[in-house]
Amino acid sequence: MSPSPTSTPFQLPALPWTPAALEPHISARTLSFHYDKHHATYVERLNGLVANNAAYEGRALAEVIRTAAEKRDAAVFNNAAQTWNHTFYWQSLRPGGGGEPSGALADRIRKDFGSFAVLRQQLADAANTQFGSGWAWLVAENGVLRVVKTGNAETPVTTNARALLTIDVWEHAYYLDYQNRRGDYVTAVLDHLLHWEFAADNLPS
Ligand code: MN
Repeated sequence: MSPSPTSTPFQLPALPWTPAALEPHISARTLSFHYDKHHATYVERLNGLVANNAAYEGRALAEVIRTAAEKRDAAVFNNAAQTWNHTFYWQSLRPGGGGEPSGALADRIRKDFGSFAVLRQQLADAANTQFGSGWAWLVAENGVLRVVKTGNAETPVTTNARALLTIDVWEHAYYLDYQNRRGDYVTAVLDHLLHWEFAADNLPS
């Protein structure tokens, strides 16, 4: 699933739930800063950078990300990738989420990780050990599910891996609610918020 199929100028996509819907695990206050300030600013800066730029204008967001990565155009890459990553993160969360997936995704997890507990531990480790800002991801690569972490704006969009879900571990994602306790935020996301049906929808057929 592509979170933003539209081309330039890019829109800030609507949140899939109300800003208070993830409480008490992520507060409406965190969501309002994270979405209305951080995510909105990435979109705004991106549109400013790609306007009247033939390399990017009229292209889809994923194409802009890949082109900017190839051209080593850090400003466009960072803002485009963060636009994509945040849209994907909102979709990776839902009220009443977390716990274990079922169906075809559960079967794939057992096959590739041995058990859900192993996947849960790998996601927690990736999220907790990412040094500084970044992301933890469940991806499918060459038909196999695995967990990866990326720094800053880095994204699976520039790789052969297909993202299934992500956890934002930039401090702005949790600091108002958890201060320095990233592990408590990660546990709350894993146990109460991960949207496994969204991850299942992203499984390559
Ligand atoms: Mn963020």
